[in-house]
Amino acid sequence: MFDISSYRALVCTMLLMLPTGLLPSHVTARTWDTFDTPVSGEAASIGSYANGCITGAKALPLVGEGYQVIRTQRGRYYGHPDLVNFIEQLSKTLHQSNDGYLLIGDMSMPRGGRFQSGHRSHQSGLDVDIWFRQAGGLLSDDEREQPSKLDVVQAGTFNVNQYWHQSHADMIRQAALNPKVARIFVNPAIKHQLCSMQWQDDSWLQRVRPWWGHSLHMHVRLRCPAGDALCQNQAEISAGNGCDDLAWWQQQITAPKPVENSPKKIVKPVVKVLHPQCKKILTH
Ligand SMILES: [Zn+2]
Repeated sequence: MFDISSYRALVCTMLLMLPTGLLPSHVTARTWDTFDTPVSGEAASIGSYANGCITGAKALPLVGEGYQVIRTQRGRYYGHPDLVNFIEQLSKTLHQSNDGYLLIGDMSMPRGGRFQSGHRSHQSGLDVDIWFRQAGGLLSDDEREQPSKLDVVQAGTFNVNQYWHQSHADMIRQAALNPKVARIFVNPAIKHQLCSMQWQDDSWLQRVRPWWGHSLHMHVRLRCPAGDALCQNQAEISAGNGCDDLAWWQQQITAPKPVENSPKKIVKPVVKVLHPQCKKILTH
């Protein structure tokens, strides 16, 4: 017997499985990368870093004191004003001491939200990738759009390579000292390197977190801005500088074995429910 409800459910499931470009014209499925402008009004980060959006985002000026935005054609240089201020301040401080230019990679899209490719986080206007390659001056247009990369980690080892420089440690430390910073993700070999250096006060190291990849750039994540009631912070980091927790990473990198029940490698398919405020922005 023909059952109309299961037929509908089947069609629905099939539509959801289609790539966006193949959806029939009457099905509207707008993606976040189709917005060219921020939502006007007061700035507010909404939801979590990996499932959120932003209103009132500001565009980081493409060039400023001691920095330059790279790959501008992607249009991923928007963020909460706190993030824009953070980047401007950090670049200025570092430029005054070493004359270099920071290369600013992806922040968020104008309204934040999920990327079609590239990142899982960077959704609420509070994340930025800052490259380890530092420039001596402004890049040409071509270089800016297709910049060469600097990898500071010896692949397959737990060590930095010959391109690692004191200025990288300075950059990470200076960023981590800012009280608005929640976490900075770097390759475990970089955290290892920072842990092996002598510091008068290493409390900032707590916020420097080892993670896969991140040998070309550091990923800075700010805390939810004061007063953003709909913004979700991550759990606080446990006390200490985190240097004693690197053994697991060292083993994973130098002698990778599938570790059972490791929470770090198992990627479970998670159905993310969009925050109602973000849904409103997406369907507006
Ligand atoms: Zn990132």
